Amino acid sequence: MAFSLNTYPIVYRARYTATGWQEEYLEKPHKTPQEEENLPEAEREKLANSRNYYDDMPLVNYTTQYGLGCFEGLKALPQKDGGLAIFRPDQNGRRFSRSMAGLLMPAFPEDRFLQAVTEVVRRNAAIGFRPHYKKEWEKDSFMTADSIYIRPFSYAEGGIGVAPSKFPYVMVITTPVSAYFSAERSRATTTNRIRATPNGTGWIKAASNYVISTLAKYEANKAGFMECIFLDAREQKYLEEGSSCNIFVYLKSGELVTPELGDTILPGITRASVIELARDMGVRVSERKLSIEEVLSEGAECFVTGTAAGVTPIESLHHQGKEVIFNGGKVGELTATLRDTLKGIQYGTLPDTKGWMLRV
Ligand SMILES: *Cc1c(COP(=O)(O)O)cnc(C)c1O
Repeated sequence: MAFSLNTYPIVYRARYTATGWQEEYLEKPHKTPQEEENLPEAEREKLANSRNYYDDMPLVNYTTQYGLGCFEGLKALPQKDGGLAIFRPDQNGRRFSRSMAGLLMPAFPEDRFLQAVTEVVRRNAAIGFRPHYKKEWEKDSFMTADSIYIRPFSYAEGGIGVAPSKFPYVMVITTPVSAYFSAERSRATTTNRIRATPNGTGWIKAASNYVISTLAKYEANKAGFMECIFLDAREQKYLEEGSSCNIFVYLKSGELVTPELGDTILPGITRASVIELARDMGVRVSERKLSIEEVLSEGAECFVTGTAAGVTPIESLHHQGKEVIFNGGKVGELTATLRDTLKGIQYGTLPDTKGWMLRV
């Protein structure tokens, strides 16, 4: 399993109070990483599992009852020189603060966010909970490389009336992660489910947005596809994004297109980074409406982007009985170049000329 729930022991918790944000670092039950590795599997799981329980937090609240919560996802990556670095955490901090404000919660300050994610990674690493750089990852462009997934999220105070959270918690947990998307099967299909509607919460990294994504992705998987692609709510004609990732299509004309941002599309940080990298390479990049018909007839390469997905090539896209196979089913040249460039910057084998990596 790529996404394990083996959370690292040190957790950040803040709570908004009448006098502002109160912060603390919790140390959940653990042994040394080596001792944990040597435990029988059932015991190891029990220990890891116990780190996911908090008996001093309210069960009935606006998050568990009504889905009023938001989260972030970012990564700390082992560097060639032995260190750890986080990819663009300032951008996640900004988005998190906007998400909280968008859900009518007190926005979590961006400087606290930066401090918290860095400190959680640092403190866990100090007691041995961290992956180490392996030279062999370079052979397959870091497709099998390990990293630390950082998951900040909000959690409401107790309450059962329908109302926004006034005094939320902000938690930051971390978990080791290896390659998330499998390399071989990357067929995608459109879904007729609607992920986000105009004037809704699609632009917020809201927990509730994942209800529809979960259903649609499950259905796509059952039908033999890796990913589902959502179309716009009004006309069911224009591409929006995947279940948890943004989408790009490289057209035969040489134009790289990704749907323009609006209130139904999540502004991905990987998306923004890929746009910048592609433009630096001299590629014509457009953020505009992209119809499914245009993709079916003009698509040459296709990929999805996200913190978990990185740049993941899409081999084919199915839509109502029609199917476009991109680049004969092989990973396209532009897709591969963008994927390798991003990975190279993230793992420190390429120079970080844009200042995207924050050293822990
Ligand atoms: C998080 C997310 C993405 C990807 O954003 P990144 O910042 O690149 O990780 C795309 N779509 C949805 C719906 C998301 O929740």
